[in-house]
Amino acid sequence: MPLNGTDTEVTKGCWKCAKAVEASWAFCCHCGAKLQTQESPPTSERKTDIAFLYDVYSYAWYNRYDTAISLYDSVIEATRLNARYRIFSEPSRFQRILVAKIFSEYMALLEAFGMLCLSIQNRDSVSIRWSYINTQPSDVTQFYQRVKATKHLTFERLLNFPRMEVVLSAAESIGLCEEDKISIREGYKKILENIRLVADQYLNKRGLLVRNYNKLKHGFPVIEVQWVVPPLDLDKIAIYSFDEVGYLSVKQEDANRQIGNIESITLMGGELMAVCLALDKINMLFAGSFANQETAAIDCFNEQ
Ligand SMILES: [Zn+2]
Repeated sequence: MPLNGTDTEVTKGCWKCAKAVEASWAFCCHCGAKLQTQESPPTSERKTDIAFLYDVYSYAWYNRYDTAISLYDSVIEATRLNARYRIFSEPSRFQRILVAKIFSEYMALLEAFGMLCLSIQNRDSVSIRWSYINTQPSDVTQFYQRVKATKHLTFERLLNFPRMEVVLSAAESIGLCEEDKISIREGYKKILENIRLVADQYLNKRGLLVRNYNKLKHGFPVIEVQWVVPPLDLDKIAIYSFDEVGYLSVKQEDANRQIGNIESITLMGGELMAVCLALDKINMLFAGSFANQETAAIDCFNEQ
C-alpha cells in the first residue's frame, strides 16, 4: 500500500528513517540514506561479521596510516625530486600538496573510526559488514555530536557491551588466553576516552575541518599565493570551502603532529577491534549471550 497519495509511483519506507520514499529515488530526502545500495540492511550475521572484522583488523584498517607515512617520506624526499617531474612541481609546492594530503588521510581516518564505532554499536540489528560499508559521514557527525553532548556515558552502554567484571569472569572460566584478557582489560579502560578524543578532533572548529577535508577530496581549491589580503603566511595554505576559508599550517611540525595523530587513532581502532574479537571468542559480543546485562546502546544517549 502506498505510504502517500500517488497511485502511479510505488512508495515504501526508507530503511533508515522509515519515512515514505519513492522506488526511483537514489537517496532518502528525509535523512540522506542511500536507497539503492540494497533493499534493506541484512541483520546481524555473526560468522561473516567476525570474518569481516578480523579482515579489517588485519589489513584494511591500516590503509590511512600506510598512505600517510609514505606521503610523509615523500615530503622529506621532495627536494630530491627527479628533474623530469619538476616541469609541474617545484619541491616546496610538491611538499605543501603532500602535507594537505596527509591532513586528508587524518580526516578520513577520524571518519572511518566513527563508522567502525557505529557498526559495532548496531551489530545486533544490522550486519557489521553492511554498516561499515554503508554508514554515511552525516551519521558519523551525529554519533560524535551525541558522544560529546552526553555526560554520563560508559563504554559498555555506548557500544552495547557486557560489563567488564562479567566478561573477565567468563574469560577466566573458559580459559581465554592472557593476550585476549589484556586486550579486553586495556580496551575497556581506554576506549570511551579515545572515542571522546576522536569526536573532539573531528568536530573541532565547528565542522570546518570536515568541510576542508571534503574540499581537498574533490576540487582541491587550495591557494598559497599573496593575492589575498592580508597576504598568506608562508607556512600556510588556504582552503576555500563555500563562503569560508580554512587555513592549514604546512610546517614540518604540523606534518609530524598529523602523523602522530594518525598513528594514535590507528592504534585505537585496532584496540577496539581486538576487544570485539576477544569478546566473540567467549561468545559475548552478540546479544543473547549476555541477556541479563542492562545494555541499551540505542537509549544510552537519552540519559544525560
Ligand atoms: Zn530516510
